[in-house]
Amino acid sequence: MTDPVPIAMGQGSSCWGCFQSLVDIHLGLADVLPLLDIKYWQAVADFKLHHLESYPDKSVVVGLYEGMARTEEDVHLLKLMRDKCQILIAFGSCSCFGGIPGMANFSDIEECCDVKFRNNRTVKGGKVPSENVPPLEKTVKPNNSYVDFDIYLPGCPPTSKVIATAVNALLTGRPIELPAHAVCHYCEREKKEEPVESWLRDFQGISDPDRCLLEQGYLCLGSSTWGVCEAQCPNAGAPCKGCHGPVGHFVDHGAASIAMLGSYGPLEAEEMKAQIKDPLGSFWRFTYPASHLGQIRLRREGKK
Ligand code: SF4
Ligand code: SF4
Ligand code: SF4
Repeated sequence: MTDPVPIAMGQGSSCWGCFQSLVDIHLGLADVLPLLDIKYWQAVADFKLHHLESYPDKSVVVGLYEGMARTEEDVHLLKLMRDKCQILIAFGSCSCFGGIPGMANFSDIEECCDVKFRNNRTVKGGKVPSENVPPLEKTVKPNNSYVDFDIYLPGCPPTSKVIATAVNALLTGRPIELPAHAVCHYCEREKKEEPVESWLRDFQGISDPDRCLLEQGYLCLGSSTWGVCEAQCPNAGAPCKGCHGPVGHFVDHGAASIAMLGSYGPLEAEEMKAQIKDPLGSFWRFTYPASHLGQIRLRREGKK
């Protein structure tokens, strides 16, 4: 048997959903775990940050970084992972694009602290904590503005199937082969090529289970989103929210999604504005910090 491969899993600010998806491989892990020598994984293995800091540079073969760098501690861990790992994977959409926590950039840091602490009735005294917690970064910058990644594995979270494919390929030295098309390609719903008359929110009406959700007026981002998940949401009855990001990296996913709406629902701009209540959250939910629009926001915050 060959020697186990040294691997490290780093967690920035995140919900742990991506690592949960890895654990959800269940029995498949029985084949993979003996091949791994886990060198660092905060929540699972009893290694401390100083252990990771003490390893020689590039002594860990594969590193996965989940989450984004919201605190100074997250930034330190991210840079450390880059130093120590030969192959660094941006694991999940937070790590690839800023993800759900990246929506914090819709507001500035003081507004975020108002909502979370000062005006939050469940927080005693309404104070922003300053002891025993790492200082916050002013904005959520994309992780790849701090370090380079070798592989991007988006998804909120990436599916267990995709993680198993990627890990097995890495361990056997094969290329990672992932589905190449947009979500629509894998969707079983019928398209009738009829224009949308009005946009609906998910809770409005009852959708036809066989017909394209977008053509029924539900905001389904399947045609602008990378279908690595093989259309698991629309095939199960829910519109695609775009969690795997754009087809092809670093295109503005929100702008591509809005352009797609223009061709499906040829409504006047004012009419669309009235019907789509939360454009930023609807179209840039997972990719705002990495998008062109999000970059403008970051530049503006940087000048303050
Ligand atoms: S990508 Fe989604 S599942 Fe993964 S850490 Fe971020 S919010 Fe959680
Ligand atoms: S837009 Fe959504 S529902 Fe329609 S075909 Fe594409 S993925 Fe399926
Ligand atoms: S269908 Fe869309 S929202 Fe659902 S997992 Fe796939 S990319 Fe994410």
